[in-house]
Amino acid sequence: MYFFYRSFSDKIWPRGCISCVCRLETTEDFLCSTCLDHLEAAIAPRWENVTACASGYSWLDFDTPIVKNLMHQVKFGHVPDIARFLGALYAQRHCRPDVDALVPIPLSKRRHFERGYNQSEWICKGLSDVWRLPILTKNLVKAHRPAQAKQNKSQRFLNQNGAFSLIQGLPAGIRIQLWDDTWTTGVTLNEAAWTIQAAQPITIHARSLTYAQ
Ligand SMILES: [Zn+2]
Repeated sequence: MYFFYRSFSDKIWPRGCISCVCRLETTEDFLCSTCLDHLEAAIAPRWENVTACASGYSWLDFDTPIVKNLMHQVKFGHVPDIARFLGALYAQRHCRPDVDALVPIPLSKRRHFERGYNQSEWICKGLSDVWRLPILTKNLVKAHRPAQAKQNKSQRFLNQNGAFSLIQGLPAGIRIQLWDDTWTTGVTLNEAAWTIQAAQPITIHARSLTYAQ
């Protein structure tokens, strides 16, 4: 019934692939099969070293055209649904983790206002659509700092130093996955995890959807 409705609505309001904008088939969602193949080819998981965390892991190679394109739309194109789609795809390809909640890396109030949403939170929404894990967004906050992309490694470290605060304690003994959109130097996830550990030692697994070389 759903596909009948969709094939009918696709004829009237054709949907486009979010990457190459070609027309989607009734059975396709967000990406056409060619772009989905390109995305599959960008899957190159990497274990990361995050000292404050029990584990660190990132999934997609940012330096592939399809991932760059999608993440650009997520961050600057006002299309948070792509982050949700990618989060759900990640969750479909990984077992439900042995954690109690997902915590997205927060944006500063100013950045959140400018963008209108937090992309890491939308990744978590996609994960939660599949894993049914709660998302905690009220505990960790971030002060405004200049954009990381314009800085070198040591500037990034200083820039993030003291940027996060835990304004609301987490439930005792909770195990979390801490989520960022892109792993570059690991400074952001590390700093956020140290902030949580200093206030309240818990089990944290750092996760990032993509990584840049
Ligand atoms: Zn496409």
